[in-house]
Amino acid sequence: MFVIASDRRERSNLFFNRLLRRPAGLLAMTFFSLVFPAPTPAAEEKPALIVFIVIDGLPARQFTAALNFFGEGGFRRLIEDGAWIPAARYRYASTVTAPGHATLVTGQQPARHGVVGNEWYDSRAGRIVYSTEDGEYPILDELPKPRRSGASPRNLMRPAFGDWLKTNGYSRVFAASMKDRAAVIMAGQGGTAYFYSAVSGRFISSAYYMQDFPPWLKNYHASKIQDRWFGKYWNPEFGEKFWEHAAQPPREQHMDSRGLGKQFPHRVTGRLSAPGASYYAALARTPYADEYLADFVKRLVREEDLGQNPAGVPDVLAVSFSAHDYINHHYGPESLESLDHLLRLDRILADLLKFLEQEAGTGKVIAVLSADHGFAETPEYCTWTGRPAGRIDGVKLVKRLNRHLARKFGNGIYIAAWTYPELSLSDRAIERSGRGPRQIEMEAQRFIAQWDGIEKVYSQTAIEEAPDDSAFENAVRAGRYPGRSGNLFLVPRECWFMLNAPKQMAANHGTPHACDAEVPLIFWGQPFKPGRYDMTADPADAVPTLAAALGAKNEMESDGRALDALLN
Ligand SMILES: [Zn+2]
Repeated sequence: MFVIASDRRERSNLFFNRLLRRPAGLLAMTFFSLVFPAPTPAAEEKPALIVFIVIDGLPARQFTAALNFFGEGGFRRLIEDGAWIPAARYRYASTVTAPGHATLVTGQQPARHGVVGNEWYDSRAGRIVYSTEDGEYPILDELPKPRRSGASPRNLMRPAFGDWLKTNGYSRVFAASMKDRAAVIMAGQGGTAYFYSAVSGRFISSAYYMQDFPPWLKNYHASKIQDRWFGKYWNPEFGEKFWEHAAQPPREQHMDSRGLGKQFPHRVTGRLSAPGASYYAALARTPYADEYLADFVKRLVREEDLGQNPAGVPDVLAVSFSAHDYINHHYGPESLESLDHLLRLDRILADLLKFLEQEAGTGKVIAVLSADHGFAETPEYCTWTGRPAGRIDGVKLVKRLNRHLARKFGNGIYIAAWTYPELSLSDRAIERSGRGPRQIEMEAQRFIAQWDGIEKVYSQTAIEEAPDDSAFENAVRAGRYPGRSGNLFLVPRECWFMLNAPKQMAANHGTPHACDAEVPLIFWGQPFKPGRYDMTADPADAVPTLAAALGAKNEMESDGRALDALLN
């Protein structure tokens, strides 16, 4: 027997069972409560659907620069009819996917929600842990071998917005994304997550959410919709007419992934003659992934009757569009590919908004749009525009650092893990050296600080013993969580790309610099006063602002604040 999400009572029991079973994450439920005002005759004006829209890896500067190119009904509609903050800034340093989604939906910094990275080194377990892995809840339907042991929000230590609404017991919460970590985190503890399988090309889930897929999902995939884009050529038909650079920016750094090629047209086959895993992986890296996700989301909304909750409470739908992040990694955020993709996404969004309004009722949809992080320019683009830039070979750095420490403190493997942008030292090597962790950390910090392209290195010891209260150090501190954060946090200079293998990708993110930390933040719907707000804001403000917009009493402990200026 499978549990379908529309069976409210069963879901609710399941939810509270989990509550009892997972005290670590869920005792947090007592930190807040949400009390709706008593229903009034004007209840029909209450929102029926609250939508989180996340564009993975969309920097504020790129969004603002593309304003004149957007069509009607999509991004333009959101900023013209909504409250738009052009550059909200994440206040923690590790600007990557999982922490960004967690901060957006919990209103907390990683120091509280615990999701410090996409993965982190667990010093007690002695291994790298993926943010949403959970062997207790296997991934359903990934054959022959699932990519991960399982998935659940076990590592998310604070409730999400949807959990908060669910304390009423009746709101339904769904999240969908091409990335498992994005969907799992946005669904919170009590919602249902669907995510893409690059193995089967289907939208799947884990045993945390269901024992088997609902019949509608089986029907959806029976049509083999995932094969629809096989062999298609991605051409720059949306972006090309706006491509007005006097000279073309460099392209030599473009990455060829899964047979997509470095230049237009990018053909989607995964180098296969018929659809298979490599094609499904390639598909996720094209605008067709967003088309596919939007189509799936429409089906989900219709089948689960989202936005038509018989209890008269709002449902929550969270959608994270992942392709933009992949495309920026492959070609850079200043590429024609990235612009073309954003304009295609604009059309997809226009269509989705219209659909959601039809389903939930005009004026009954509230939307929050943001990004989980921004993106740095490619070093080649920086050089082209006259700024110093370069690539840091992280593997080489770690090797040299280890050699240096071994020379100084005796043989051993001192680096336990390198989970960019953090380094974790090995307790065993430290112990064997007979020195304290402090001494080894400080030496490592000194060594890395002299590496070409490194702006700053923060060590755990220095943060604890001699806080300098700079913006960067505060950002590093806001991103630290006990047992999950490394000994050293690296910040490359602006325009300096850093990763394990520097030639693998065109561009990256993950620093506290403005390029990575600043993202658009938009609130759309009846409670919000339309306008452009050039104010200081943090994506952690989204949840408290939404709570204020709902007129709900907000007792949630939050690192963000309600942006009252935006409310009607
Ligand atoms: Zn990324």
